[in-house]
Amino acid sequence: MEQDYKETDLLGFWNALLRVDLSTGESCVEPLPDKILQAGLGGKGLGSHLLLKEVPPQVDPLSAANPLIFTCGPLTATAMPGASRFGVYSKSPLTGGYAESYSGGFVAPQMKRAGFDALIIQGAAKSPVYLHISDSGVRLHSAADHWGEDTYQTEEALLAEVRQPGAQAVVIGPAGENLVRYSCLENNKWRSAGRTGLGAVMGSKKLKGIVFHGSKDCELADQGCLKRLARELTSRGNHDPGVAKYRMYGTPMMVAINNQAGSFPTRYWSAGSLDGWEQISADYLMQHFNVKPRTCHRCFMACGRLTTVREGRHAGLTIEGPEYETIFAFGGLCLIRDLAEIAYLNDLCDRLGMDTITSGNMVAFAMEAGQRGVLEAPNYGDADGAAVLLRQIAFREGIGDILAEGILTASSHLGLEDIAIHVKGMEPAGYDPRVLKGMGLAYAVASRGACHLRSTFYKFELSGAIAPDAVQEKVAMLVEVENRLAIFDSLIMCRFYRDLLQWDNLSDIIKAATNLRMDSEALSQMGNRIISLTRAFNYREGFTKEADSLPARFHDQPIGGEVISREALARMVADYYQARGWDTEGDPGDFLV
Ligand code: SF4
Repeated sequence: MEQDYKETDLLGFWNALLRVDLSTGESCVEPLPDKILQAGLGGKGLGSHLLLKEVPPQVDPLSAANPLIFTCGPLTATAMPGASRFGVYSKSPLTGGYAESYSGGFVAPQMKRAGFDALIIQGAAKSPVYLHISDSGVRLHSAADHWGEDTYQTEEALLAEVRQPGAQAVVIGPAGENLVRYSCLENNKWRSAGRTGLGAVMGSKKLKGIVFHGSKDCELADQGCLKRLARELTSRGNHDPGVAKYRMYGTPMMVAINNQAGSFPTRYWSAGSLDGWEQISADYLMQHFNVKPRTCHRCFMACGRLTTVREGRHAGLTIEGPEYETIFAFGGLCLIRDLAEIAYLNDLCDRLGMDTITSGNMVAFAMEAGQRGVLEAPNYGDADGAAVLLRQIAFREGIGDILAEGILTASSHLGLEDIAIHVKGMEPAGYDPRVLKGMGLAYAVASRGACHLRSTFYKFELSGAIAPDAVQEKVAMLVEVENRLAIFDSLIMCRFYRDLLQWDNLSDIIKAATNLRMDSEALSQMGNRIISLTRAFNYREGFTKEADSLPARFHDQPIGGEVISREALARMVADYYQARGWDTEGDPGDFLV
């Protein structure tokens, strides 16, 4: 990309947007004005702005008219640790609303170094293709030979064809090709932009993968200062007990914490702890498997676990994971109390290109439906049966064709709407809101459905920062955390740095990277505006106040004696709207620049 679109003294950005039209095969680079970047930085702020602007109202998410948008941020490819993620945005085939997902690994720096801040893919190819995007241009290649390959094969094959040292690829598997509404994008084999079904958007465009590589360095406002801030962050991180835990145990440490709190979703959301959870815990993983820490680009936390199964029928299987959310989904919800089997199902989902959280929820939903005699499904605990079902879903065979449509369609088809657990059509992650009531509010109001990552509020509830059963006092805290993490997602920084980077740290980092001087109040307002953009998208697409609710089971069926009452949730939602400056119906007003 040779064009120079720099306008003023805003640095850390290329001020460039790459647009690729798969219907025509043409591409162009367009200027991104400073005022858009100043209003929302990159990442989520930019992605949400472009989404609202580029997605035609009421568009079918799997039609050529629905664009797929990638962004990186002003910290991408800098010295700052934890800035390893790229963001993807579209209209979700799973929920029909706002879709976003982020993935770590090593792709984002190559994307940024190719010379743009955002990539919009529009239209659809007639036959399978892949894109090769670099600082010397955009090339479209046939992917006919790779259609049908799994994600590992595809990534390896595309990188071998492009033959550029350092190149990185984002790909889909058979699930994305077959438009499974919770298919994902995979990179570096095991890193996923997992949620909201963006793999199906890529599949609907017949786009099997994108290879990025670049060698350009984006000018920063004060390179020396950013390097100093990066060193300080690393030094603080190296003395932080929370970082030490992530480094030692990774996310599987949450198995013990949630079971002890009674918030570990079990047997398709019917209990809050699992008998025998010790067998799927972080300690068990470390004692019985070969586990090595793994890291994304420039990260001192290294929360990833490269795990090899030592014995049994899956001996020799190596994956990065399983992460807590996959353990909860298959171990807790499906009662598969065997980490080797969970690793096997994790590997299968990664190869097929399916989100493990929704996949585990859908398999458990089918198991529950089977128990009720509504369909023939594997019993709880049946790992082989779960694997068969996952393949049926990915290839849309038999009952898999219905389950591939997501929980809204599947539960309606089976007449099981009353037991289906989801918000806006997307299932919650592994934190039961009957116990962790702030997570109840977080799930209800998150734009992409029952999302745990926009606030990671479980962390505050489980760490004792605020009592799990407190209610009203959580609203302001949730808003503050969501705003701060919206800035994280716009830079784009990994979630797990949340305790190390408070508002002042973010101000300093943003000034050093971009030259923008923003105090904590200005940043908080920016976070609020970005979240309101995502709300505006959903509001336009027909999501009203009624969608900010929880499944009836969370109100009516206690676990450990706990429910979240309808009244408490309604009060929290009303206070949340007020704190965000939305009207009483949740209308955020007009937020486009
Ligand atoms: S903390 Fe984990 S997920 Fe985050 S950047 Fe580091 S290795 Fe990647």
